Amino acid sequence: MSETLVDIESIRAQFPILQREVNGKPLIYFDNGATSQKPQSVINAINHYYEYENSNIHRGVHTLSQEATSAYEEVRKKVQKFINAEHDHEIIFTSGTTGGINLVASSFGENLIRKGDEILITAMEHHSNIVPWQMLCERKGAHLKVVPISKEGELDLEEYERLIGPKTELISLVHVSNSLGTINPIKKMIDIAHAQNIPVLIDGAQAIHHTPVDVQELDCDFYVFSAHKMYGPTGVGVLYGKEELLNDMAPYQGGGDMIKNVTFEKTIYNDLPHKFEAGTPNIAGGIGLGAAIDFINSIGYDFIIQHEAELSRFATSQLRDIKGLRFIGTAKERAGLVSFVLDGIHPYDTGVILDKLGLALRTGHHCTQPVMTFFEVPGTVRASFAVYNTKQEVARLVEGIDRVKRMF
Ligand code: PMP
Repeated sequence: MSETLVDIESIRAQFPILQREVNGKPLIYFDNGATSQKPQSVINAINHYYEYENSNIHRGVHTLSQEATSAYEEVRKKVQKFINAEHDHEIIFTSGTTGGINLVASSFGENLIRKGDEILITAMEHHSNIVPWQMLCERKGAHLKVVPISKEGELDLEEYERLIGPKTELISLVHVSNSLGTINPIKKMIDIAHAQNIPVLIDGAQAIHHTPVDVQELDCDFYVFSAHKMYGPTGVGVLYGKEELLNDMAPYQGGGDMIKNVTFEKTIYNDLPHKFEAGTPNIAGGIGLGAAIDFINSIGYDFIIQHEAELSRFATSQLRDIKGLRFIGTAKERAGLVSFVLDGIHPYDTGVILDKLGLALRTGHHCTQPVMTFFEVPGTVRASFAVYNTKQEVARLVEGIDRVKRMF
């Protein structure tokens, strides 16, 4: 057997959940775009914290608090290295991608955006990268502009340049689309925006586990992602921001840890990163995120990229032959997922039948309703791949789709 297969087996062995059965069948988990499974090392790191170090961070002189603080703060440095940020205080821990975008929309957007200004997003954004900007626009009397997509699910870059005008104050773009798989040319788009001095936020929720991210090379102003889509726990994520922008921003929430001094007359806010981290954070989650980064590093992006591309190619070539199956999202540059509809069969029904066969796929609008409206479908069936998926599992999906078709 090939070396790849050997590697995959040792990777799979690290994920306890992959041993279980669903509806009497071995679990095949293709819902990684929603959340990935967690390796034993991540579960162990979280357990270890609760079993040996559990304590609140940053304020205790006792041993447990110091150990927990240093474990948590080590992760900040690990994230800094992982995305090549210049400073560790440019790494703000959040509750996830959604939390990061809302933080920027409130703290950065509130100051920046005035009546009549424009915020530019794209037609393939997740609701998390639409609604916070819409809310900001409503508060300020500003306008949300949208870069259109093609039938293939690619951004129209000419239109992107055309839409950037003197009133554009902020641009927020998805790196990899969760419903189409499109990998956007964000470096080029950031350069175009910066030529007009417009700051850019990148939603990296679907990118960070597929491709290495270098925020200094990208020169993005903000980059956000969630731990739970990159083999880490839920409820924790990262906002990277350039130091000078973060320093100029007002705090997002008030409370403990984000202060230096409080009197009833005035509060002096804490320095970065704590200024944006009010209250007790998800300490165990942060520590789990550190273990998730170790897991990704132990495998390496070369393997991840090659393996997921191979699964995607295999799935596309196998599914293409199924009559009545239409892919939604056929961009040239795509990450490891396939999204499709079956003629005359609702995605929900497809999902229910596949579940009976042990196959976990996401069906619906994937929090991208405007994408579904554009393609005139109620939703799609999405298989999104992770490093532990195999071609054999993809073959089972193809058999499953065949079964669905025969039942209708
Ligand atoms: N953006 C994209 C592209 C996503 O795929 C997701 C999650 N599906 C989000 C944002 C929101 O992530 P979270 O729910 O972890 O905040």
